[in-house]
Formats: sequence, structure tokens, C-alpha cells
Amino acid sequence: NIYNMSTACQIFKNSYQSFGYDDLIIMPNSCQNDENDNMNSVIDFSINDVNLRTRITTNICINTPIVSSPMDTVTSAEMAIQLALQGGIGILHCNQTIEDQVTQILKVKRYYNGFINDPITFGPYSTAQDIIDAHEKYGFSEFPIIDEDRKLVGLVSRKEIDLLDNPDKINVRDIMMIDLKTAPDSSSLAECTEIIKKCKISRLLIVDSEGKLAKLVCRKDIKVLRKYPLATLHHETRQLMVGAAVSTHESDKTRIHNLIEAGVDFLVIDSSNGATQFQINTLKYIKNISITILEKEIDVICGNVVTGEQARILVMAGANGIRVGMGIGSICTTQNVTGVGRGQASAIFDVAHTVWKMTMMNEINENGKIIVKPWTGRIIPIIADGGISNTGHIVKALARGADCVMLGSMLAGTDEAPGDYYYKEGVRVKKYRGMGSMEAMTQRGSKERYLSSESSGGIVTQGVSGVVTGKGGVDKYVPTLAKAIKHGFQNMGCKDMIYRDVKFEIRTSASILDGNVHHLFSYEH
Ligand code: 5GP
Repeated sequence: NIYNMSTACQIFKNSYQSFGYDDLIIMPNSCQNDENDNMNSVIDFSINDVNLRTRITTNICINTPIVSSPMDTVTSAEMAIQLALQGGIGILHCNQTIEDQVTQILKVKRYYNGFINDPITFGPYSTAQDIIDAHEKYGFSEFPIIDEDRKLVGLVSRKEIDLLDNPDKINVRDIMMIDLKTAPDSSSLAECTEIIKKCKISRLLIVDSEGKLAKLVCRKDIKVLRKYPLATLHHETRQLMVGAAVSTHESDKTRIHNLIEAGVDFLVIDSSNGATQFQINTLKYIKNISITILEKEIDVICGNVVTGEQARILVMAGANGIRVGMGIGSICTTQNVTGVGRGQASAIFDVAHTVWKMTMMNEINENGKIIVKPWTGRIIPIIADGGISNTGHIVKALARGADCVMLGSMLAGTDEAPGDYYYKEGVRVKKYRGMGSMEAMTQRGSKERYLSSESSGGIVTQGVSGVVTGKGGVDKYVPTLAKAIKHGFQNMGCKDMIYRDVKFEIRTSASILDGNVHHLFSYEH
């Protein structure tokens, strides 16, 4: 079998050992850049030449290969927004009501726009309280006021209402601004940008020839695009992209329906073991219902799996991405509780290798070298989920065949993760809990991921609650992670995310010790 001649195959294939990230180390300069490349080529590029653009689903590209886990101490709208601005993407957890999850999607979707074609508007007889409520719900502060014929009559902002007494008794027509700057609906985005710059306004209202409100452009959106060139934007709406988790339970059919209607870009079927009939049924349901609602199929990430055979089942069923990892998350106890799971490096290799073979993206020549071919089959990205505690793990996951990584603990300590910082033994920390922990399972959603409905007897937990150290804002943290990943790619001799073979070696326990800081009296970073 020629596959067995590839360097990774020599380690992973026909091996009954389960390798974790720390069991392996990547050989420098070992990336095979073309068919004839020997594996020790000279590195002739800087980290600025490394392009981390990749995919999270068949149809969705991201510029930074980092995805936030759908956990209630990791991803709500704030995390999804900041991560998408940095070129990654967030997946909103489903351990919350359908209404709350929908509200989070709307927050992300309305954070950044090119033209806003369906602005939230109010009538002149709406109350100031309605505006306050809309601010809470959507997270932005100015709303156009239109009459019953959609003619623009005013604009009201938080400034006019936040100090009012009895806001529920005041009509917006008594407080709205009426001297408004408008532009005709033939204006281009560039022309609108010029008007916003020149007139120093925060909203430009665009009206048709009859004075009816057609759309609007926000100053903030223009600034966002300049500040975040890597942002993950929808190719048509230019809004930030976001995913959402759903369970396989019958009761989540309404959730699936409402999330698709709210504009979610893709769904993640959140199961600890994804190769089940429940998952296949849910996948089919999502595909069918999205055709009914959107007249096209929405992308669906399936999982979690750890073997090639499990992945094959999901690929055959129509998955648009495969989430890999079982019992290796920092808060997981699955492997101890159930005795089932797999070392993550082995799991990624097996799944990625199986999916490549199924989709024929690359070929192996008779010398065991992988020939990089243009994508020929359906593209099914691999998401390495869990067990990542440093950027070296991320580089190893990507080098072993993952298209992007899903982070829980590494993002849980950032400003954008839900929950407040507090001090524990003098260290600034945030709470982080497994979705299969007792604490999380007392809320709906995660109970469905880790408990089957037919369970009787006591509750079996598969996770713990803990704390992680504070990391600061995603806006500094994620670019630093991306830079470290680029250093790893440069050391391997790899300029981009197209899969190539990279040479690994197994580490002995002595070499793992040597690879960490050792024999110091004390140290600091
Ligand atoms: P981390 O990045 O913290 O190592 O792992 C996060 C991943 O662990 C999540 O994306 C999810 O797949 C998994 N996970 C989250 N909560 C639990 C849990 O309570 N038990 C188990 N077995 N896995 C969990």
C-alpha cells in the first residue's frame, strides 16, 4: 500500500498506539512543497508570507484557522463577533433558549454591514422604551423613524432617550432628530463612505425617489472593514459570519428552523459521538428544512468522531465538515468514565486521511510522496476539537491534516468569553466548565449532548467545572496565536494551508522533558 510509505503513515497507520499532541514533534524544513521536493529544503520566506486562509465548511472560508467551541463559558455573541473580526469564527452554544440563541445570531449579524438593506425601524408613535428594548436586543443605538408609507421622518438615538423619565410614556416623534442627511438609492458604497466622512455623521440614510427609506450605511461598519482586513464576512451581505450548535433531539427541530430563519451561516450538530442514526437523521432534516426556508442547503458540521470509519459514515450522509475529538478536552472525563475515546493526534490523522481518500483531493505517487492536486471532490474540512493548550498543538493539528482548530479552554479566559473575571489565590481567573459537567447539565442543551433521554438512575457526568487564567481581549490574543502558528509553519517550511506531508517523530519521555522548560530555579515568560 503506497499510503504506508508517507511519513505520517509510518507513525500512525497499522499502529495500535493512541498518540496525543505531546507524543509527537515536527521535523524542521520537512514540508513537502511539491512532488519532487526533497524534505529538507531551505526556508526562503518570512512569517509574513505565510497564508493561514482555510475552510471551516465546504462553502465557508476563514482567514485564521481558529474556531470557538459551542460552550456556555466560551461562545456567546461577543466572542463570535471578535473572533470573526480576527478572521476566525464562533459557534454559538445551545445551552440556552431558542430565543436567546436567535438573539445572539442577530447581534453578530447586525454588528457589521455594508449596506443595511432591512434596517430596524420604528413608527413615530413608538415609545422611547421600545428604542431602549431594541438597543438591548440588537446592540446598536440609532434607529430610523418611518411613517406608514415607509417615508423617512426622523432618526432617534440612545442619546435622546437614555436619561428620560418614564420612557414608556414618551413617543419618539417628540424626541427624534428631523434634520437628516440622506443619499439617493443609486449611491455606491464608496460614495456613501465619502458622505459619511465629509458630514461626520454616524448613519447615512438612503432614500428612494419618493423619500421612502431604502437602506442605510453606518460609519462604524466602514471603520470596522479598515481595522479588520481578515474579518470573516459573508460574500453577499458583507455581514460577519457565525455558526450555531444544535442537538439531535426531536425538540430541537424548532431551534433548527428558527436559527436558519435568523440567518445563521452553518449549523454544528453537537454530539459527543457523531456516528449515530440520530445525527444522520438530524443532518437530513437540516438539509431539507433549509431548502424549504432558503431554497438552498445550509452547511452542516457533523461530529464528534475519532476514527476514519466514523467519518466515512458522516461524509456519506452529506456532512460539510467533520469535528474530531472524543474525551480529550481539558474539562472532559469521557475517557475515564466510559473508557472510550482516542488520542487526538491519531484521531486527526485517521479522520483526515480517510476523508482525503474519499474526496480525492491529493494523490500519492509511487515513492510515497503526496502530490498536491487542485480540489477535485467535495471539500470536507476537518476541525480538530479539544485538547489544545498551546500554539504548538495547533501547528501539529494543522500539519496532521486538520483545516482549523476548535478552542475551549484557550479562549475561555478572554474578555469576550461569558462571565466575569475574579481573583483566586491572587490570580485573575474566569470560570470554565465542561458541557457534560453537573453544573452545565442542570441547564437544557448540554443535558441532551451527554445524557440520553431514556436514561434512568443517577446522573453520569462527563466533564468538570474549573477556572482558567485571564487572557485579556481576543483582539490582541488571537493575532498573537496566529503569529505563533505562522512561526510554526515557517519552521516546517510550509507557506499555506494546502495539505502537504510533514515529517513527524515520536518523542520519548526524556525528549518531552527536554522540550519543556527544565532545570531552572524559577522562570517567567
Ligand atoms: P478544550 O479546548 O478545553 O481542551 O476542549 C473543548 C472541547 O471539549 C469542546 O469543544 C467539546 O468538544 C469538548 N467538551 C466540552 N465540554 C465537555 C464535557 O463536559 N465532556 C466532554 N467529554 N467533552 C466536552
